[in-house]
Amino acid sequence: MTPVGLLSIGGAINSTINAGLHLLLRIRSQPYRACSKFFKTLHSGESEKLPVMYQTRDMVIRNSDLLEKKKAAVREAGPCNLQVIADFDGTLTKYWIDGRRGHSSHGLLQQGNPEYDAKREDLYNYYHPLEYSPVIPVEEKVKLMEEWWGKTHGLLIEGGLTLDAIRRSVSCSAIAFRDGVADLFEYLEDKGIPVLIFSAGLADVIEEVFRQKLQRSFKNIKIVSNRMVFDDNGCLVSFRGKTIHVLNKNEHSLDMSAPVHDQLGVMNGLNNENHSVKTRTNVLLLGDHIGDLGMSDGLNYENRIAVGFLNDNIDGSIQSYSEAFDIVYLNDASMGATVDLVTELCSE
Ligand SMILES: [Mg+2]
Repeated sequence: MTPVGLLSIGGAINSTINAGLHLLLRIRSQPYRACSKFFKTLHSGESEKLPVMYQTRDMVIRNSDLLEKKKAAVREAGPCNLQVIADFDGTLTKYWIDGRRGHSSHGLLQQGNPEYDAKREDLYNYYHPLEYSPVIPVEEKVKLMEEWWGKTHGLLIEGGLTLDAIRRSVSCSAIAFRDGVADLFEYLEDKGIPVLIFSAGLADVIEEVFRQKLQRSFKNIKIVSNRMVFDDNGCLVSFRGKTIHVLNKNEHSLDMSAPVHDQLGVMNGLNNENHSVKTRTNVLLLGDHIGDLGMSDGLNYENRIAVGFLNDNIDGSIQSYSEAFDIVYLNDASMGATVDLVTELCSE
């Protein structure tokens, strides 16, 4: 890791002179322009000691001292105390594919019934702006998201979604794992570190993406997401458990979907997995949305290293992301640096 921007301002010094006297800023390569703006924000009016920051074109670490402390604590506790919790869409998968937005596990579905595909598209066009509206209170948004997910799931049932349609949809979709994801999972499997993939998408679609894009499954991975129930003819008849939507991906979702975990655990030969998720005290969290940080809310963790993927609107979001996540990767980065991080965390 190359330090590109190093800020060190010691003590309580006057904010009018601090930049000139105590600011050491080294630029070893061309900084990402959005981050330059972020540096300026930090420089202005701050008189407290600032953390050491690292910045490259594809990465920002706002407080490297804190990150190093967390890494040391996780390394000390060993792999047996580490678990990984990851979002799926835009985190494990690429955000951009051939210059266009990649599909999400919900978005890729073509249920073989154009009328119902259009109805779900209409719902997206109506609710998606509401999800990001800055004026709707969160309680109201939660109700809207429940409404959206409920209606969408209803249309999938009513429109006769089949297992075959899921397979075809994934096969025709623009969805791809980030480079290095398979290496990450292999390494974690080798070390016996459980991975919880926590998604407001569709578990059955995510599993099909694993089958088609990675051509393998991993015994240490558990998918907690909305799970479908099919009849003997492979037609969707219902959803199992309570709905997980974009605003309730937290400890409640873990509890709500407990029966699903149990079943998956048995299927994967990891029927004590829920137990280990609750007792492993160090968490590596991967997400592409600040709301993804809620995925670890229900865990009594001692150390959490949060890795964020900032895929879009970098200028507008770099500050909030770098404050929320320990490491932020920009520009749809590969998973390679995360593999290096995990390797470091598991080193003796
Ligand atoms: Mg996501």
